[in-house]
Amino acid sequence: MPSESAGIDTIVTEHKNDPTRLVQILRDVVATQGFVRPEAITAIAHALQLPRARVEGVAGFYAFLGTEPKGRFHVLFSDNVTDVMAGSLELRRRLLDAFHLELGDVSRDGLVSIDVISCTGLCDQGPAMLVNGRAIPRLTPARIGAISALIRGRSPVEEWPDNMFRIDDHIERKDVLLSTPLARGEAVAAAIARGADGTIEEIKRSNLRGRGGAGFTTGIKWAACRAAPGATRFVVCNADEGEPGTFKDRVLLGAWADLVFEGMTVAAFAVGAQRGFLYLRGEYPFLVPHLRAALEQRRSEGLLGERILGVEGFGFDIELHLGAGAYVCGEESALIESLEGKRGIPRNRPPYPVTRGYLQQPTVVNNVETLAAAALIAKLGAEWFTAVGTPKSAGTKILSVSGDVERPGIYEYPFGVTMQQVLDDAGAKDTQAVQVGGPSGTLLARRELGRRIAFEDVPSAGAFMVFDGSRDMLAVVENFARFFAHESCGFCTPCRVGTTLVKQMMGRLVEGKGTRRDLKDLAKVSKLMKTTSHCGLGTTAGNPVLDALEKLRPSFDKRLASLEVLPSFDLDEALAPAREVTAREDVDAHFPGEGS
Ligand code: SF4
Repeated sequence: MPSESAGIDTIVTEHKNDPTRLVQILRDVVATQGFVRPEAITAIAHALQLPRARVEGVAGFYAFLGTEPKGRFHVLFSDNVTDVMAGSLELRRRLLDAFHLELGDVSRDGLVSIDVISCTGLCDQGPAMLVNGRAIPRLTPARIGAISALIRGRSPVEEWPDNMFRIDDHIERKDVLLSTPLARGEAVAAAIARGADGTIEEIKRSNLRGRGGAGFTTGIKWAACRAAPGATRFVVCNADEGEPGTFKDRVLLGAWADLVFEGMTVAAFAVGAQRGFLYLRGEYPFLVPHLRAALEQRRSEGLLGERILGVEGFGFDIELHLGAGAYVCGEESALIESLEGKRGIPRNRPPYPVTRGYLQQPTVVNNVETLAAAALIAKLGAEWFTAVGTPKSAGTKILSVSGDVERPGIYEYPFGVTMQQVLDDAGAKDTQAVQVGGPSGTLLARRELGRRIAFEDVPSAGAFMVFDGSRDMLAVVENFARFFAHESCGFCTPCRVGTTLVKQMMGRLVEGKGTRRDLKDLAKVSKLMKTTSHCGLGTTAGNPVLDALEKLRPSFDKRLASLEVLPSFDLDEALAPAREVTAREDVDAHFPGEGS
């Protein structure tokens, strides 16, 4: 295929034959050829001087890449629980039936393939899907009918009506972060005036803690990076927000991109970094033109590039890097692996990225919201920031509110706000439970709605999913279990096997086929994953099950098929083929049953 290999050469050349761009190269290959063909793997490996197995391994790792043929129109429905609650399963069935397909199939004529992904980051306007990587929110039966007709008519996705792809920002409540104006360059100038050490001290005094979930103190992280030996330093903005129920970074980067880039540049000045990356969630390519334009403007105003604001020796620039559909890349060391063009397998820690991160050099990785806050602290000072929030949780938190509420969207509150306040503002009624921080976070029952969003009470990376009294909470937990089993990278046994076992047991319970033995095993496996998994995905995968078993136990008990402790594996049935081979059907050839 000479023309195809010429196309691959062009793509690789555009990426300067740089092996660290491998994920980006493969994204471009999929965009032009639908999937990664064996010839493409060979050509890329040759051009980048990488082992062929390395390229194939990366192509097979990410959901948006892949080495299997897909339809000319590749449709991915969001399997996020709030999309399911909004009717995505019925809509998915409708489209599957229109093309006589089952999930995962490619139509015989190669026209269409339909599958699922964990989440699209559009939980405030679901149900949603991606078609050839382009997001379509607010699906309805009429919209599915229109999409089906466009596919049948072989109309290129680029020519579909613009309003089909319209993504709305639902900004429902602003506090100091979203309402304080900042002119381009103001925070960078303030950081320069304070000096690098002074800026780090100011960030430390502000008690700014990471908004991505872990809550690590930002100033300490920056100081460690600055002090670490290394020829080059890097600043990475983690905009991978793959946690189902989270979409605040999408809005921040859409409407406050300059604030985030300002924060990255302040961080670069403080730690002495020369290069920065914005690692953008693979589901958000619609933000790329806007982000590129914002970066270009900053370059033209001397806020990126050599001698920023005329300061000798302060050179810094930012590159965009798109993810490719792997939730585990939200973990900072997996994200760095991905940035280096590898599979997103979390690294052993220590060493931590601040000492050995991107290309083994000191690297600061911060969440989008953290960097936005850092920019404002650089300009307005630590006292401005600590005046808001609680003594242990300074500043504000942006929540992505979705599910059973009248007004889904993003809400910014000072830390310390009660769950009930958020629910009242969003128009929630008869709330049965809230999942805070996404599936890996905390499930809170009705009796806990007086608790507060704060590091010292209910910490949150931002997701706030609401379930009213009509929802089947076992089905919700089963959805989360499916999510973790789907997203486990498979590197370590406790998570790879544990997430699958939990998914299977939750499936049995939801179908009313579970036993008390399943409940015991669910708790046991979930605790085992927590203590023995290699990274945060595995250590948090059991959270929803353990929370639900503790707080919603009657829902489980009501669904049990048997109150007895029955084995979930039928050994006698499994031995049937052996009996057949040995031609034995006598009593002694059977495994004794329960109670025998
Ligand atoms: Fe991969 Fe799960 Fe192990 Fe993390 S815990 S390394 S996601 S298998």
